[in-house]
Amino acid sequence: MRRIDLIIIHCSATKVTQDFSPEDLEACHKGRGYKTTGYHYYITKDGQLHQCRPEEMIGAHARRYNAHSIGICYEGGLDANGGSADTRTPAQKRALIALLRALKVDYPDARILGHRDLPWVKKDCPCFDARAEYLTLTPLKLEQ
Ligand SMILES: [Zn+2]
Repeated sequence: MRRIDLIIIHCSATKVTQDFSPEDLEACHKGRGYKTTGYHYYITKDGQLHQCRPEEMIGAHARRYNAHSIGICYEGGLDANGGSADTRTPAQKRALIALLRALKVDYPDARILGHRDLPWVKKDCPCFDARAEYLTLTPLKLEQ
């Protein structure tokens, strides 16, 4: 098993008015020379969760931090004019919380951060304060 101590949240940096499908994302990342989408999970505006790589596979989303992290991306992050904005839909917020609570079961010691919370990152990604928002998140309680 790969050691995971970070869960890193990203946005796709696409306009809220634009549709950016999992296939679009994959094509974009393949264009950069990645084998497939760099994130492990992608959450589209409709709240659908798409697995892009297995958790065991090292991601390509946060330089220097890929080896021991999980990368999650939500569709959006830019307003209609291209400015940074928290464009998450209620469905995306619900899907993010559900995914994070499930991941905390498997990786109880992992910290949840936004991409911009990492050192040397000059982007606004994911365009909201993920660290504060998910600080008190509790692992999903599994039925006995
Ligand atoms: Zn990012």
